[in-house]
Amino acid sequence: MDITLSAADRALQAKAKDFAETWLFPHEELAEDDAGVPPETMKKILAASVDYELSGMNHSVEDGGRGYNVVQQCLIYEELGKATGGLALIHSIVPPYSLKFATPEQKEKYLKPTINGEKSVAFMVSEKDAGSDARGITSTAVQQGNHYVINGEKWFASHANYADYSLLHSNIDGDPEKATLFIVDKGTPGMSVKHLSKHMLNRSGRTPQILLDDMKIEAGQILGEIGQGFELTKDWFIEQRMFIAARCVGSAIRAAETAEAYAREREAFGQKVGDFQAIAFKIADMAVDIMTAKTLLYRCAAEIDSGIERKLAHARASAVKLVCTEMAGRVCDEALQIMGGRGYLVEYPTERLYRSVRLERIVEGTSEIQRVVIAGQIKKRGLGLYTSL
Ligand SMILES: Cc1cc2nc3c(=O)[nH]c(=O)nc-3n(C[C@H](O)[C@H](O)[C@H](O)COP(=O)(O)OP(=O)(O)OC[C@H]3O[C@@H](n4cnc5c(N)ncnc54)[C@H](O)[C@@H]3O)c2cc1C
Repeated sequence: MDITLSAADRALQAKAKDFAETWLFPHEELAEDDAGVPPETMKKILAASVDYELSGMNHSVEDGGRGYNVVQQCLIYEELGKATGGLALIHSIVPPYSLKFATPEQKEKYLKPTINGEKSVAFMVSEKDAGSDARGITSTAVQQGNHYVINGEKWFASHANYADYSLLHSNIDGDPEKATLFIVDKGTPGMSVKHLSKHMLNRSGRTPQILLDDMKIEAGQILGEIGQGFELTKDWFIEQRMFIAARCVGSAIRAAETAEAYAREREAFGQKVGDFQAIAFKIADMAVDIMTAKTLLYRCAAEIDSGIERKLAHARASAVKLVCTEMAGRVCDEALQIMGGRGYLVEYPTERLYRSVRLERIVEGTSEIQRVVIAGQIKKRGLGLYTSL
């Protein structure tokens, strides 16, 4: 097995590093303010993602994307994951994978402008009683002539309060067998914000609850086929779980580097704190923890690129997400501890990274849900799925 990076991989990695350091790091503290990063700055960041040829990295060249392989996309996300304040979550870089199944007209209207940084997108799946268990979805679409009338409520619909369009998961006739994705334009009558919740990632971040009240959507706005809602979302899960893992590797590396540099300089009791074995061992454990998770990430990314079957990719992506997100939690916690009181201040990236990575154990399947997937796969296909090469 060869996971040596090619010259093209290294060039892409350097480009992503430069983008993160030039376009994301300078705005990190602003992202923590109540008002957040101003819209005109966000526009410039989006334009830069296009100039750096990072936008649409998960879509084919034919669809206007970059056609990068999974290893390359993980390299990019690892660099972006070093930025805090949710700044790595730039919609132009990773438009939902499900848009690959859009019609040519839908791709022109939605996918291409998203890749070009001109349109933003949200993904609305979760509901009040449907998070880990998406079978609990109760939002319902009923056909009336050429339209569907949709009623329900979506929770945790990140960015749906301002995104230009959303991908909405709803059950036709309330039947989970007919779970379907609809493309919903901003401002569609019947869609409104019921509540905005503040959260831990940054002060400006707001997670909306969206009310769908007799919202009329043309039948032509269905993405893929009726009943494909879960199928299309499953592909998104493989992709997102790998990218979350890559972001976490990047976050952990920045936290470890910051703490290690601090421990080299800070003195207590007449010596550098990094020379206390208690601190040196923490740094050693952090380095090994990162190395273990990163090796698994790139091994599995290379396997996906080599064309392993989708079910296997799904099984592996759960293990990768579980290992990398849990690792990042441990590393950022220890990094904060090494920096003492300064680790707790918002001016340093450590505290911000600590909060950023906490979310990653919850979204796109909690750590418990990843274990449910892994345990299920072991029952079906045997332990060798995870223990053999
Ligand atoms: C900031 C933020 C942004 C988000 N953005 C989006 C978004 O853009 N779009 C979207 O659709 N959703 C979004 N989500 C929702 C997110 O995907 C869900 O929060 C997540 O899937 C967990 O669902 P839940 O919150 O309902 O927890 P629950 O499903 O209620 O779980 C509660 C606890 O029970 C555990 N649990 C559940 N089932 C099992 C099981 N079978 N075995 C063992 N333990 C189990 C869970 O692991 C968890 O610890 C976002 C959430 C947050 C916090």
